[in-house]
Amino acid sequence: MAVAVAVPWARPWTGPGREAARIVDVACVRGWLTEVAGSLEAERDYLTQLDAAIGDADHGINMHRGFTAVMRRVGDLDVATPGILLKTAGRTFVSTVGGAAGPLYGTAFLAAGEILDDGDTFGPRRLLEALRASLEGVQRIGAASEGDKTMVDALAPALAAYELELRTGGSLETAVRAAREAASDGARATVPMQARKGRASYLGPRSVGHQDPGATSTSLMFAALERAVLADRTQRFAAGTRSRASRP
Ligand code: ADP
Ligand code: MG
Repeated sequence: MAVAVAVPWARPWTGPGREAARIVDVACVRGWLTEVAGSLEAERDYLTQLDAAIGDADHGINMHRGFTAVMRRVGDLDVATPGILLKTAGRTFVSTVGGAAGPLYGTAFLAAGEILDDGDTFGPRRLLEALRASLEGVQRIGAASEGDKTMVDALAPALAAYELELRTGGSLETAVRAAREAASDGARATVPMQARKGRASYLGPRSVGHQDPGATSTSLMFAALERAVLADRTQRFAAGTRSRASRP
């Protein structure tokens, strides 16, 4: 992350570039939640297997249960903004998912929702702030640092890669791609780590050699984000509703 922070913005946030900024709206956020729910359903057994190796074999079940409840709850909302959707997801997660993942992901979603507030749309820079707030929330609650073999090992590098891509002139699309790649690399990089937080830490050196389930579910969420953003762009482009310019 230090690298990203040291890199100045490639172009000012105000000025003509701002009008051309790609925006994210409530349909895209709903699309993302739907993608996450589908992915967690498809990968439920895989996540549970990962947790069976270094935990208590419930991560896939927890995440699937949580997201099933989230989709039901957000489906019931008549009027929603991106912030309301994420805050609803966060509260639902906290109330329906036990174990470590419930409060941790719940806090991450809530923190992101608070940053997005009640606006109808947001741009790539606001998404950066939301991701940063999510990481801060997870670390405030779980006190994990990078290298502790937790979801932070996917979330922190994803945030850093997203920020670096934006700062060096990338678009929302290239930034979410960079985040997805970094989250996936980060999850894989947990394999040789020894867990220092959470249930896996009870195993000590025996936690080495297994991929962390929470880092894996986080990387699935970033893959879902990229798919949702790209699908949204394709629809907008087809409908001709928005400028094609894609610089932040
Ligand atoms: P539990 O461990 O209570 O059974 P889950 O299996 O649903 O909960 O989630 C386990 C995941 O939670 C771990 O793989 C890890 O990524 C994440 N985790 C556990 N403790 C922490 C923590 N203190 N900070 C960040 N993430 C954590
Ligand atoms: Mg578990």
